[in-house]
Amino acid sequence: MARQDNINSIVIAGGGTAGWMTAAALSAVLPPHLYSITLIESDEIGAIGVGEATIPPIQLFNRLAQVDESAFIKATGATFKLGIEFANWRTGSDRYFHPFGRYGDDFGAAPFHQHWLRAHALGDPTPISEYSLATKAAYAGKFRWPDTAANTVYSTLGFAYHFDALRYGKYLRSLAEMRGVERREGKIVDVRLTAETGYVESLRLSDGGELTGDLFIDCTGLRALLIGEALGVDYQEWSRYLPCNRALAVPTDVIDLDTPYTRATAHAAGWQWRIPLQHRLGNGMVYCDGFWSEDEAARALLGNLDGDVLADPRPIRFRTGRRERFWEKNCIAIGLSAGFLEPLESTSIHLIQTSITRLLGFFPTRSFDPLVIGEYNRHTTNEYDRTRDFLVLHYHATERSDSEFWNHCRTMPIPETLAEKLDMFRGSGRLLKRDFDLFQDASWLAVMLGQGVRPKSYDPLTESVPPLDLDRALRGMRVTVARAAEEMPPHARFISQFCSAA
Ligand code: FAD
Repeated sequence: MARQDNINSIVIAGGGTAGWMTAAALSAVLPPHLYSITLIESDEIGAIGVGEATIPPIQLFNRLAQVDESAFIKATGATFKLGIEFANWRTGSDRYFHPFGRYGDDFGAAPFHQHWLRAHALGDPTPISEYSLATKAAYAGKFRWPDTAANTVYSTLGFAYHFDALRYGKYLRSLAEMRGVERREGKIVDVRLTAETGYVESLRLSDGGELTGDLFIDCTGLRALLIGEALGVDYQEWSRYLPCNRALAVPTDVIDLDTPYTRATAHAAGWQWRIPLQHRLGNGMVYCDGFWSEDEAARALLGNLDGDVLADPRPIRFRTGRRERFWEKNCIAIGLSAGFLEPLESTSIHLIQTSITRLLGFFPTRSFDPLVIGEYNRHTTNEYDRTRDFLVLHYHATERSDSEFWNHCRTMPIPETLAEKLDMFRGSGRLLKRDFDLFQDASWLAVMLGQGVRPKSYDPLTESVPPLDLDRALRGMRVTVARAAEEMPPHARFISQFCSAA
């Protein structure tokens, strides 16, 4: 067998969340005597600075990047997140909770939710949220670590974090630099490609310097300097499915440790986020400029805030969609340069994380094998597409008809893959599984039921459980969940005991 023709130098262009997550993870895994990693970022341009809510797999990233959990929580002013409350998405005056973790326990020959559907059909009106420890704990303002041992009620709990995005970048930078990543400050003014192959050869900087490398990672955010501008990889726009394209972000001075969850409140032409951190609240309005002006969005945002604003609302523009290819020649796009689906369900940082782990799984040699690159692109494309479907569900499955925006969302065409998933659920309550779907059954269930999608029937195998046994089993689970939530410590106390901000 021939020796591998290894790459040696990696250049990360951009130092936002994507750049520093990539630098922290690669420097934790790649031995410094074999690989040099350089990150270039521009203080003048800065990072986007939003992106404060995460989903549970972030815990795996922290492990990969060798992040010390308590130090990270202190450094970033983080709080725990047990899920997302969606207000006014279905009718305009409703709310439901998308919890992290599982509902109830599977029993008999069918999954838990099928028994719950049957109980409903038999006249039991108990909402499914009564079987979710994360929902109960979130509304009671409680938190504790989940159990790692299976089969305890605390093992059904899932969690993620809210954190200050800029502090997170700084924290990861300190880890990456400690492990030998070289940071260069400067502005990239040109991306040079080799004449013969069209590979990226070097980045030219405004101070006249030049950075060469074997592998280039484009973390330049929405600008996509390498993958888009230099290599010309097209962007597939998804505004027909995900119409929001503007945001206004504003912090307020409230410290609220009693709501360990994100709130997403729907408005006439968009939705508002509320993210509690240890030192402030993160707030923002995501909207579509075809249905609302910036003034209208700002009025709705400023009229619905807790506390006093700490800065003027910051406008951000984006286009929902993804690259046609994420890895092109010797360049991989990670972060906003790769695509952006919009902030709903906090998936962007997760997509950064999976791009990094996928890069490690498909790590290149100098031959840049087209088969390896093709497989990386296929996985990433599928993951973006499945995530898109989940987000579209929130907008499309609504009964709202009180504004042009919601009429548009309710009646817009949706991806076929989502239509099939909805049809299957409406028919038999079954959750169609697809590869690369980052959201598990409990998430789809929470949002489908929350948005008013109701199955016509349930799994026939549930009928092997006699109605009295079904009733007893469900009651037992409800009592266990309620007791477990009661016994958990308050989130505020948990934070102050283990990880108060430094
Ligand atoms: P950026 O933060 O834009 O970083 C780009 C970097 O490239 C910067 O360092 C910049 O200096 C550098 N750069 C650019 N051009 C040059 C140049 N010419 N020379 C040198 N350097 C250059 N994600 C979540 O997971 N959860 C959320 O709750 C969430 N909320 C969001 C809310 C909004 C309104 C938006 C728009 C996004 C949100 N996101 C969220 C997405 C999240 O913010 C991003 O995925 C994440 O911050 C990664 O951004 P990035 O690093 O790709 O880009």
